[in-house]
Amino acid sequence: MKDKKRKKEREPGKIRTGRVLVWTAAIVLTAAAIAILLYLIPKDDKEADSLIDGTEPFVFETEPFTEAETEDGVVPRPDIDEQLLTVNDYSRPGEKVDSVDYVVVHYLANPKTTAQQNHDYFESLKDLQDVSMSANFIVGLEGEIIECVPPGEIAYASNSMNHLSVSIENCHLDTTGRFTENTYQSLVHLTAWLVDRYGLDRDHIIRHYDVTGKECPLYYVEHEDKWEEFKDNVMNYIEECREAAEE
Ligand SMILES: [Zn+2]
Repeated sequence: MKDKKRKKEREPGKIRTGRVLVWTAAIVLTAAAIAILLYLIPKDDKEADSLIDGTEPFVFETEPFTEAETEDGVVPRPDIDEQLLTVNDYSRPGEKVDSVDYVVVHYLANPKTTAQQNHDYFESLKDLQDVSMSANFIVGLEGEIIECVPPGEIAYASNSMNHLSVSIENCHLDTTGRFTENTYQSLVHLTAWLVDRYGLDRDHIIRHYDVTGKECPLYYVEHEDKWEEFKDNVMNYIEECREAAEE
């Protein structure tokens, strides 16, 4: 009787150990599978306005660079913090654009991040070697302007327009994507300076949306009147500078 009892007691113990091992193995394997999937899936697209951009193949023209930069612009150069990215395949290929025909406006779909953080992220892509993205300029929440890639050089921001444009990314505070007053004023000044510098006109100020249909910059896609107003503000600013220069 005693032996039988012992046997009976041992068996359930054995089964429990076996089950625990099976479950542990299942959990470990599932966790590993999830980890692999998370690694393979592109990062949260909220943080990557340009994530999609970088996956497009870029065709580089070999023609000589034809930058139509004017020396005698009327718009004064804005205060620009030059922090050029290291030349690398993921954010600054070091290739000249064919020409600067457009200024493309974007928003960094990642509220509250600073211009410096986004600049540093672009710089880190050379080491991550995962996605390609960048912009020529980033305008921050306080209106600060960081230059990442010199205008006239390709940045990975505007898809098929990368070789014909200069790109400006903008920080913002919330999911509406509306720019702060400081950001907006700096963007008007920077855009006016570029439009003036490259001899462009109002129709050559475009949104990422106008290139690919992507909702970027979100607020100025959802509010067409605000976008038109922005272009008016840029052109009026240039006109004011012109009048001031003639006086
Ligand atoms: Zn964009």
